[in-house]
Amino acid sequence: MSDMSDCLFCKILQGRIPARIVHQDDIAVAFEDVNPQAPTHVLIVPRQHIGSLDDATQDHISLIGHLHLVAAKIAADRNITRGYRTVFNNGPLAGQSVFHLHLHLLGGRPMTWPPG
Ligand code: 5GP
Ligand code: ZN
Repeated sequence: MSDMSDCLFCKILQGRIPARIVHQDDIAVAFEDVNPQAPTHVLIVPRQHIGSLDDATQDHISLIGHLHLVAAKIAADRNITRGYRTVFNNGPLAGQSVFHLHLHLLGGRPMTWPPG
């Protein structure tokens, strides 16, 4: 794992800031969002520091797929497979506030479209 000493999610992954971890494996860690926007709001975060999708390369194809499969597993474990959403916010205009790639898993309530 890269050590980005001023990155909030790197600190969580290193255990330097507490989080409610719900899944971990060699590639990713998932934890509850501190400010949940739905009954399920989990962040699935690669152990490797990647700023956003803009910084992803061909080397990260498998990693990005893995984040989605972890989301689907958590959704299945929580019985929310009738409707959940996976979201990467990329860049400030899309609402990205933490610049360590993370997949939002939102579910447990009806979702509207388009998102805001
Ligand atoms: P973004 O806005 O970058 O797409 O998503 C960042 C998410 O991280 C937000 O939903 C925000 O609530 C969450 N977040 C920010 N700080 C913390 C924290 O210290 N702990 C946890 N668990 N989530 C955080
Ligand atoms: Zn980081």
